[in-house]
Amino acid sequence: MALLTILKFPHPVLRAKAEPVTDFGPELARLVADMADTMYAAPGVGLAANQIGVTRQLLVYDPEPDPEIRAYQVVINPKIVVAEGEEVGEEGCLSVREYCSEVKRAWKIVVEAQDLAGRPLVIEAEDFPARILQHEIDHLHGVLFIDRISALKRALYKKRLKKMLQAEKEEQEEAQGLNG
Ligand code: ZN
Repeated sequence: MALLTILKFPHPVLRAKAEPVTDFGPELARLVADMADTMYAAPGVGLAANQIGVTRQLLVYDPEPDPEIRAYQVVINPKIVVAEGEEVGEEGCLSVREYCSEVKRAWKIVVEAQDLAGRPLVIEAEDFPARILQHEIDHLHGVLFIDRISALKRALYKKRLKKMLQAEKEEQEEAQGLNG
């Protein structure tokens, strides 16, 4: 088990468009296993490759992260081919510190993708699993859930984050001063 570092907004890799996966070898299987471990440890219900610094179209998700029943799904090179209905629900993100907001998503989607072996995969999802998939597929296009909230809410969050990061930096500098 290897835990990967989850990059946080405003890291530029979170804004990158991921390239299609073309190599379905053992390296990919290792990366997927590490991503799943990282997602469960966070804990989270989904993780896209951008979030761990890999710009490939790859995500893992599991709407039931309960250790007793969990079984994650790997989704490679996904495309949303059907999106129906609308639903507003609360979202957060492992890459966006200390923030949650309501986001409007399609209620039902159909995704065409590939599995870990490169075979075609069709996923029909509704409600919460559909929300997770839309959130994670957004990541692969460099989009974050804070891009889907009002400009005012986003501006307020960015302001708060700036203060948080500044305070962290000052704390670190103070600690270094004490040590050095
Ligand atoms: Zn996210």
